Amino acid sequence: MLRRVLCFLVISVVLAVSSAGYAAKAPTSPVAYQPGSKLLAVVGKTAGASITPGGQQLTQIRWANHTDAVTGAGRLRLVIDTTGPVQVSGTVSASPTPRLVVNVKGAVPGQTDTEIDLDGRIADSISMKSEDDRNTVITVELPLMVDEGEYKVFTLPQDIPNKKPNRVVIDINQPLPPAKFNFTAGLKGKTIVLDPGHGGSDPGAVGLAGSREKNVNLAVALRVKALLDKAGAKVVMTHQDDRDVFGPNASAVDELKARATIANVKKADIFVSIHSNAAANRSADGTSTYFYQKTRYDYLLANNLQAGMLEAGGLKDKGTLPANFYVIKRTTMPAALVEMAFLSNPAEEKLLASPQFQQKMAEGIVQGIESFFAQAATKGGEW
Ligand SMILES: [Zn+2]
Repeated sequence: MLRRVLCFLVISVVLAVSSAGYAAKAPTSPVAYQPGSKLLAVVGKTAGASITPGGQQLTQIRWANHTDAVTGAGRLRLVIDTTGPVQVSGTVSASPTPRLVVNVKGAVPGQTDTEIDLDGRIADSISMKSEDDRNTVITVELPLMVDEGEYKVFTLPQDIPNKKPNRVVIDINQPLPPAKFNFTAGLKGKTIVLDPGHGGSDPGAVGLAGSREKNVNLAVALRVKALLDKAGAKVVMTHQDDRDVFGPNASAVDELKARATIANVKKADIFVSIHSNAAANRSADGTSTYFYQKTRYDYLLANNLQAGMLEAGGLKDKGTLPANFYVIKRTTMPAALVEMAFLSNPAEEKLLASPQFQQKMAEGIVQGIESFFAQAATKGGEW
């Protein structure tokens, strides 16, 4: 009974930390996201017993998927048998690809497969690696990011009447069935939502020479729209002139939600948010693109946009990086947020303010979108 109570408490703690939010507004600096920084849960002490972890073995991995027939929600349960009690904790990391990392204290892999391929629905594979002679890291590779609160890592004690050993349990929930996409190559007929970052009451970053991010972003977005229109795409802008989308001085979430909602209602094929970066360090420079892997295609889109901008603009490659910014997380289709260059860097501010560079970046973004669709088309059916 006490054990049950403890278990309940642990679940409550997990739920309590699960409301940790995503970044409310896309920040102008890329430091807002720290992959794997959140502690999920530390569970595993059985009530009343004093445990000295160590010397145990992980002996068998089992797994099963469950799908709710009504809602389509899914759950993957991974069970790893152990020869005795251990302690476990888990964190989700977005970089370089989504994964759940479980630290097991007090056991190393015994005579068992240390790598198993799963069906890819909720997880792609699980692997175990001993850290030293007492501890093991279990890595569950995930196709899509998992929200805090949608996974649990805990232990179950030995159950002698039912002949069950000590176990490590990893549950991963998938509240909605993953969206299915079947992309074709080419821009013609594609619904593309462009989101010029900031606008209206929100200027975004402001450069030393006075350039405002909202104006740069809008100028580039309009050039992207012109190129896409010409190629036969259906372009929807979250705003076509200098204005707030939700309304002046709205909360950050209302403003960003209004932008994501436009893309969701229009059932866009892709969503691209266009920004310029800023940092306290005025020498910070370069191009970066952010994604949140909520579909199989978010990274693919971001990486193609990044490559297109690097090719066209020739600036430093700051990378294709995971982030949980609102607009890329809450849109239902593949989405990316580009940071073309640093408005806080005087040389890059000059570039961002020039029509020539704006046109180059627009061409790079369109090139990225086009190569995304070409590559995504080759995945049709598999993903
Ligand atoms: Zn911005």
